[in-house]
Amino acid sequence: MTDPLPLRLFNSLTREIAPFDPIDPGTARVYSCGPTVYNYAHLGNLRAYVFTDTLRRTLGWAGLDVTHVINITDVGHLTSDADVGDDKMEAAARAQAKSIWDIAAHYTEAFKANIADLNIIAPSEWTVATDYVPQMIDFAKSIADRHCYELATGLYFDSTSVPDYGALAGGRDDAANARIDPVEGKRHPSDFAIWRKSPPGEQRQMEWDSPWGKGAPGWHLECSVMSFDRLGHPFDIHTGGIDHREIHHPNEIAQNQAYCGCTGASPAGFTPQGFTGARWWMHNNFLVDRSGKMSKSKGGFTTLFSLQDAGVHPLAYRLLCLSAHYRSELEFSGEIVATALTRLKRLVMAVEGLRAHAGEPTADLAAVHPRLKDELTGFDAALREDLNTPKAITHLEAVVAMKKVPAPDKLAVALKMDAALGLKLATITRADLRVAPKDAAITQAEIEAELDRRKQAREDKDFAASDAIRDALIARGVEVMDGDPLRWEWRVALGG
Ligand code: AMP
Ligand code: ZN
Repeated sequence: MTDPLPLRLFNSLTREIAPFDPIDPGTARVYSCGPTVYNYAHLGNLRAYVFTDTLRRTLGWAGLDVTHVINITDVGHLTSDADVGDDKMEAAARAQAKSIWDIAAHYTEAFKANIADLNIIAPSEWTVATDYVPQMIDFAKSIADRHCYELATGLYFDSTSVPDYGALAGGRDDAANARIDPVEGKRHPSDFAIWRKSPPGEQRQMEWDSPWGKGAPGWHLECSVMSFDRLGHPFDIHTGGIDHREIHHPNEIAQNQAYCGCTGASPAGFTPQGFTGARWWMHNNFLVDRSGKMSKSKGGFTTLFSLQDAGVHPLAYRLLCLSAHYRSELEFSGEIVATALTRLKRLVMAVEGLRAHAGEPTADLAAVHPRLKDELTGFDAALREDLNTPKAITHLEAVVAMKKVPAPDKLAVALKMDAALGLKLATITRADLRVAPKDAAITQAEIEAELDRRKQAREDKDFAASDAIRDALIARGVEVMDGDPLRWEWRVALGG
């Protein structure tokens, strides 16, 4: 291959794609806003982590050594994006009559299970917000005099005390400000709480002593503190869903500016907006369904667990995410994910065939057939142009479909590409993709056993027995798919 192209990424700060230039050559330090663990992650939330995983894999693909931190928000995220309403964790604990710690432990574990099922590489480190409260108080103390003011309800950050407040959001308009509920005494609509005092006479499950009284940290403070603590400042890339571009991340940036005293002109080498804590801010767009943006507070959302219960392998959802660019909205429906599952089956079937018959993959990628090399070059260019996974997948598909090239070369190139896409093509089988719906009238093991019996009957030329087994399966909702072009063999109707 020719010399690799530079890795180019879209920076939400400048709204431009530019070559990625790590602070320390050869490394990339990345922080991703993590889940608020008061409920299960929905598929939209998980899209955010398929995106960060793609970013992480692409940074690795480009030769960088990646340190990736994802936080767990177990305190501070309010039911409203503004500074009123309840802490989501407190509200969930009350509703479920459990301790916050139990709620956090349960949903953290569920989230990590989702991450593993989607073949998302675990971060180098998970940081948990409640482990960082003393550091948050120290951070708040260091900026309080110059940037904050105290009200009866908490310590508030004066958003006019830093230059270019809200630049990341492209300037906050009146409509956005109007969405922020007023708090009595707040000097400007965009000011935000960095410490919330416990209401007098009310005991919260989670509260800490502070110079401003008993209370809990603000959500924005968490990410500033944990990212700086684990990655130093500035670090390379900060990620989140596009909703964070409007409030959460501008507020983090304001705190970062205040903390570093970098409130004047831009230090050389930083973004046009000056010091922002991270040099690159990257945001994935929303997963939407017919009712609009999928959201936890709206309820009725789809989780990965419910998708699995309906008989869809989680990697089909991963492939669906990869088949759209991360900055585009992506629509979700049962039919759309079923199409992704079929696309995945085709890939898995092709690579499984290569694994079975090609022998060892060609060790030296420089030695593969020129047409395969061209596909690899195209794949590389697609990834390096702001993670263009939809295009990258078409190169992988072209590789597995290519005729008259050596199979070991094909296998080597397909597996190399999959290291960036994470579809587990090195190990997964068609049988793994066959997930029986949870409420099916028959278990997967029973189906397999019946099909083995039927195979034996056919080998014995006992066609009456073979037909009887087939009819019995059909009666129990199993479609027996003889001669299926994907050699799928059987299927239980989704959700049925
Ligand atoms: P939360 O658990 O609500 O704090 O959100 C976790 C991550 O999911 C954040 O980065 C959000 O910006 C992101 N997110 C929330 N809803 C969606 C959605 N419908 N599509 C894509 N990302 C989302
Ligand atoms: Zn955050």
